[in-house]
Amino acid sequence: MPEGLHPQTLAVRQAIARSQYGEHSEALFLTSSYVQPDAATSARRFANEEPGYTYSRTSNPTVTSFEQRLAGLEGTECAIGTATGMAAISLVVYGLLKSGDHVIASRSMFGSTIKLLGSELARFGVETTFVSQTDLQEWKAAIRPGTTKLLFAETPTNPLTDVCDIHALANLAHNAGAWLAVDNSFLTPALQRAAGFGADLVIHSGTKFLEGQGRVMAGAVCGPSTLVQDKLGAFIRSAGFNLSPFNAWVVLKGMETLFIRMREQSRNAMELAQWLQAHPSVSRVYYPGLDSHAQHALAMQQQGGFGGAVLSFDVRGDSPEQLRANAFAVVDHCRVASKTTNLGDTKTTVSHPATTSHGRLSEEQRQAAGVGQGLIRVSVGLEYPKDIQDDLARGLACL
Ligand SMILES: *Cc1c(COP(=O)(O)O)cnc(C)c1O
Repeated sequence: MPEGLHPQTLAVRQAIARSQYGEHSEALFLTSSYVQPDAATSARRFANEEPGYTYSRTSNPTVTSFEQRLAGLEGTECAIGTATGMAAISLVVYGLLKSGDHVIASRSMFGSTIKLLGSELARFGVETTFVSQTDLQEWKAAIRPGTTKLLFAETPTNPLTDVCDIHALANLAHNAGAWLAVDNSFLTPALQRAAGFGADLVIHSGTKFLEGQGRVMAGAVCGPSTLVQDKLGAFIRSAGFNLSPFNAWVVLKGMETLFIRMREQSRNAMELAQWLQAHPSVSRVYYPGLDSHAQHALAMQQQGGFGGAVLSFDVRGDSPEQLRANAFAVVDHCRVASKTTNLGDTKTTVSHPATTSHGRLSEEQRQAAGVGQGLIRVSVGLEYPKDIQDDLARGLACL
């Protein structure tokens, strides 16, 4: 293909070369190993002295297609596919860090990420300091010269959509000799290209918008070959966090509609956010597309003018018990939107973070993350916007 194609074209076109059959749709190579022409070639391939497939824990053509397409979209040299988004984050922390290293991360992130960085990693002698997503001074103050190796951010955050300044965090990390990793699951490269703002590594839960229709789990890490190929690629061969070829193929096909989905779902989310903001039973809406969002201007600059497809809102209520009951009532009155914790689907999903995605956190961690009992998260899909408004209106009318 010619050089310089727009990411929107790469989302449809970028993959490995066609096989000898000239298939138009990308082939699915369901195979765990590869037949070698002779023992000497096999030896060279296993020793990494010549390219060629050997075993699917090392590489697989369908997974390679997914990795090349995603790297093309993110504008990074390489990408590496992983079994899930959490496997991608695990690959980064276990593949790059060692005992004694220090990590700084936002305290308002995806629940499993907080759990992994805050609890699991500590068992291996890697300490994480959690700071405010939006207060650069806190990130700066947490740096331990020579010891801090990784700054980890997710923007916008799940579920409160706090936005951090990627460029500022990248500068901070690089001045301290650390890497910046950004979880870009909420926006995908269709709306935000974090490497372009200076992030060293861009992480994805491919389970969400990249796949787009809630069918399979997947993940990825994108970045320069010195990190992704040399360090993480070498590590995954032993660690085995690999993406399955079938799942890679499903996500690859999902990515063909990525740009059109992200823009349309974002527009639908904006409409819903404006409607919720005007509703008397709603006390607060969290959505970067709204003027009322604290980092609205920054978000518009980082996110190509779009707010993304996920929003959250607080229902009214006087006590934690009443807030929870009110939130449950709104969720339970939905007949179109799905009551499920997944996000990034073409189907709108509603969830109650305090008892689902953030349910495993201690009350203290949950308070720090700002996830109250009255909070509802909506991942807005492709339905006709008014039908989703009517769905939420039913429950809100009861409060
Ligand atoms: C879902 C999610 C993850 C984890 O991805 P899985 O594919 O479920 O392992 C990580 N980060 C964010 C922002 C997510 O929404």
